[in-house]
Amino acid sequence: MPTVAPAGYKRIATEEAWGPIEIFREWKRVLDSNPADEPGFVALWRNLDPAGTTGFTARLTDLGPNRIAAMDAAGIDIQVLCLTAPGVQVFDADTGTALAADSNDQLAEACRNYPDRYVGMTAVAPQDPRRAAREIERGIQTLGLKGVIINSHTKGEYLSDEKFWEIFEAAEAFDAPIYIHPRAPSPGMIGPFAEHDMHRGDLGFGVEVAFHTQAIIYAGVFDRFPDLKVVIGHGGEGIPYNLYRIDRTHPVRRPDDRSNELPSYYLRRNIFVTNSGVAWAPMVLFAQQVLGVDRVLYAMDYPYQYDIEEVHAMDALPISYEDKKKFFQTNAERLFHL
Ligand code: CA
Repeated sequence: MPTVAPAGYKRIATEEAWGPIEIFREWKRVLDSNPADEPGFVALWRNLDPAGTTGFTARLTDLGPNRIAAMDAAGIDIQVLCLTAPGVQVFDADTGTALAADSNDQLAEACRNYPDRYVGMTAVAPQDPRRAAREIERGIQTLGLKGVIINSHTKGEYLSDEKFWEIFEAAEAFDAPIYIHPRAPSPGMIGPFAEHDMHRGDLGFGVEVAFHTQAIIYAGVFDRFPDLKVVIGHGGEGIPYNLYRIDRTHPVRRPDDRSNELPSYYLRRNIFVTNSGVAWAPMVLFAQQVLGVDRVLYAMDYPYQYDIEEVHAMDALPISYEDKKKFFQTNAERLFHL
């Protein structure tokens, strides 16, 4: 018996984490070398048990009946799954590319095993943008995956750098939304965050992704790729809350170099926001007010955050049934082509 009753809408959770044991083993190898260029990765994961035997690693690797049972207990109909951060972005280009493809194969198989319960995003290694673009094509066209996961910076580099734009070109061509998921701030940013133990969800993750998203906007990515869709979690990582000030202080220079556009224009045209990790009515209502009810989606952040009370809290949002159905179900169906 589910402990959260059906609500009339499907609950589609859109930022749910998984990772194959092969990647955790390779992470461990990288962590043991204590790389100077991955201070955030080391700070977050230095105690990783790659054997998959601890409760937490086992929940991340599981794509079988245990995950389904957890979803049933929380009333979650569908998980949209993404390779957990930092994914393959801490590896060299060849290792990252190969492990991304392998993890996509595994995820696609799980989606075939549970076609009504799992949807997968394509993992890519931005270290090799050309092969990443080809993997997007394979993920969407061949494997039936529905989006792209990028775990923010790659060795300190951001997608605002034009060398990565083949990734955007492919994502736009296949109408695959790119989910920019947090990781600890990049090497050039993390110093004082780590020093104060603020490199996690309290501040560092959000600053990292807000920086990344705004850098993409300012780089003109959405002028070059007007139909590109980007998704960010955690209520939009502070951007909706800061939007007025962002517009006032830093307009976007258009490609013609003769005019400006407001960042909010791109935010409302190209960006979608989920409430991953933030089951808090004031944030959801504010994001809906700023971005519109069609651009805010439900997410849980399983297994990092698994609290059935949070599902009840979101079911109880003081909004109409129609808007709640958009939040939980139909916005995700439209964005991910379910
Ligand atoms: Ca997450």
